[in-house]
Amino acid sequence: MSSRIVSRRDLVFQLFEVLDVESLRERPRFAQHSRETLLGAIDTALAIAGEKFAPHNRKADEHEPTFQGGRVHLIPEVKEAIDAYIAAGFLSAGEDFDKGGMQLPTAVRAACQSIFAAANVSTTAYLSLTTGNAALLTAFASPEQKERYLRHLLSGRFFGTMALTEPQAGSSLSDILTTATPNPDGSYSLRGTKIFISAGDHDLAENIVHLVLAKIPGAPPGVKGISLFVVPKYRVNADGSLGPANDVTLAGLFHKMGYRGTVSTQLSFGEKGECRAELVGQPNQGLTYMFHMMNGARISVGMGAVMIGYTSYLHALDYARERPQGRPLSAKDPRSPQVSIVQHADVRRMLLAAKSYVEGGLALGLYAARLDDELDTAVSSEARRDAEALLSLLTPVVKAWPSQYCLLASDLAIQVHGGYGYTREYPVEQFYRDNRLNPIHEGTNGIQALDLLGRKALGGGGTALGLLMRAMWPDIEAAGQVEALRHFGDELGQAAERLVATTRRLGDAARNDVERALANATVYLEAMGHAIVAWMWLRQALAATRALSGASAADADFYRGKLAACRYFFRWELPRIGPQLALLDSLDSTVLETQPAWL
Ligand SMILES: Cc1cc2nc3c(=O)[nH]c(=O)nc-3n(C[C@H](O)[C@H](O)[C@H](O)COP(=O)(O)OP(=O)(O)OC[C@H]3O[C@@H](n4cnc5c(N)ncnc54)[C@H](O)[C@@H]3O)c2cc1C
Repeated sequence: MSSRIVSRRDLVFQLFEVLDVESLRERPRFAQHSRETLLGAIDTALAIAGEKFAPHNRKADEHEPTFQGGRVHLIPEVKEAIDAYIAAGFLSAGEDFDKGGMQLPTAVRAACQSIFAAANVSTTAYLSLTTGNAALLTAFASPEQKERYLRHLLSGRFFGTMALTEPQAGSSLSDILTTATPNPDGSYSLRGTKIFISAGDHDLAENIVHLVLAKIPGAPPGVKGISLFVVPKYRVNADGSLGPANDVTLAGLFHKMGYRGTVSTQLSFGEKGECRAELVGQPNQGLTYMFHMMNGARISVGMGAVMIGYTSYLHALDYARERPQGRPLSAKDPRSPQVSIVQHADVRRMLLAAKSYVEGGLALGLYAARLDDELDTAVSSEARRDAEALLSLLTPVVKAWPSQYCLLASDLAIQVHGGYGYTREYPVEQFYRDNRLNPIHEGTNGIQALDLLGRKALGGGGTALGLLMRAMWPDIEAAGQVEALRHFGDELGQAAERLVATTRRLGDAARNDVERALANATVYLEAMGHAIVAWMWLRQALAATRALSGASAADADFYRGKLAACRYFFRWELPRIGPQLALLDSLDSTVLETQPAWL
């Protein structure tokens, strides 16, 4: 089972041979770790994911949560898996040793989390939301709030949510209507409705800590008037014991295409006027704080997309190796035995495309996680600042590119299965349905594209893009020293230069006509995503080339597979950005000028 969740060999390659996570041990925070302890975390995650998460992935899809007798019911396997995850220490894996954590680098934690997401994304969601919630409270909550909520989130006694969306305010959070009215004792009374809230009600933990966006009456209009509140399902006394219910009502469940194991709720806050909320940090800074959680959550969504695509690919690969069908085009004798479908070039095309998307996407997600380690622990303040700026630029790409292309990997996995792929006898149709959420939540891909082009690439005088180029260049130069990779390095260099030129052109255009300059932002995100993933492939190809000469036979196949996928990406995928950048350079106004009445 676990060999179809994710390739351990690939995770080890990405972490140790491409990202060199072992070098992090030179930093005081990670000095107590060794290659063995880091690998131990990966192997524990693989074991628990294989034994506790993957086996109920299908059952959770077939038995979605129900609301009966005033409470939400989940299948029991969800809690068993979650208990095993918490007992192994993964909920607080990044925390300090003296707080009971494992002090694991973010890159290794992200790799562990990716294993759980591949095995069962909907059970993993309860845990990712809790970790993200705790990260936000760590950064912005008061000492009293940390005492009351944070330590219980990190121990698994409480679970967390993020409650932003309202019926009239999804992408446009400036239009939220939930209000928080100050009380004389310093608390706030919350009133409003939130929809699509994942993990909004369940019995997996003693309490649920909602992080809710709301407006204090009299606050400035728009996003500048949004504040962030902690709203527990049950009030929490000073000694940590639970008080009465906090007037948070489950108004209904959503029934979804995929991700069915994660309960999706509509929540009413303050129907009886008794919902007590605590302000986090300063008033009107809520969206800034929430972005702290959302940036982490966006990377986690991108990684989730990668991993559902990854397991889809591995299932398709096994199927293609086993399914006999047809003969080689050159075999004339109909009595000759059939070959397995992996022998057909067109099937290998689909598998190679999927491999290039999911292994390229995994490299991207882990690179982002490694940047997070730089941001936290790099020796110089300049390196930390640069890592933060680069990570901020990459975040919309890390969220949106995999949720488009690794969804395509799930789609290709169905195609490789032929008719069986369309039936419920095989898991790939569920993977596709699960993966289809990822372009939608945590900010739709359209919104990510506007963020990337409008704020990240054009903002800050183009500094972040300069950092990206500086990060790419050493790998382009290294490829120049390797005969077999030189032309890929050249092609990436040219693509990067074209991307910079197009960005400048769009920046100039935006000064006069921002609607037109940003109208095709999605194309920009796709082009930048492809250039960055091509870079990720070049990095993998450099590592594979270094290792190939002394490799064992099995490892040699692994490294040759990396080189083949790199070649595929440069031959078949990277050239797509030429026409995309040309369209952007022309400031094409086709979609902008098409009137709603004409559609
Ligand atoms: C399964 C699931 C789980 C979720 N979990 C949570 C959760 O835990 N907490 C939470 O708060 N929310 C959650 N959400 C909500 C999710 O984040 C929103 O659905 C998403 O942000 C989009 O909002 P919307 O559904 O209102 O769509 P809309 O905002 O109405 O968007 C519809 C379409 O219009 C486009 N669009 C909208 N505005 C613009 C614009 N200005 N420019 C260009 N295009 C635009 C969008 O890209 C999209 O294609 C979840 C949603 C789902 C389906």
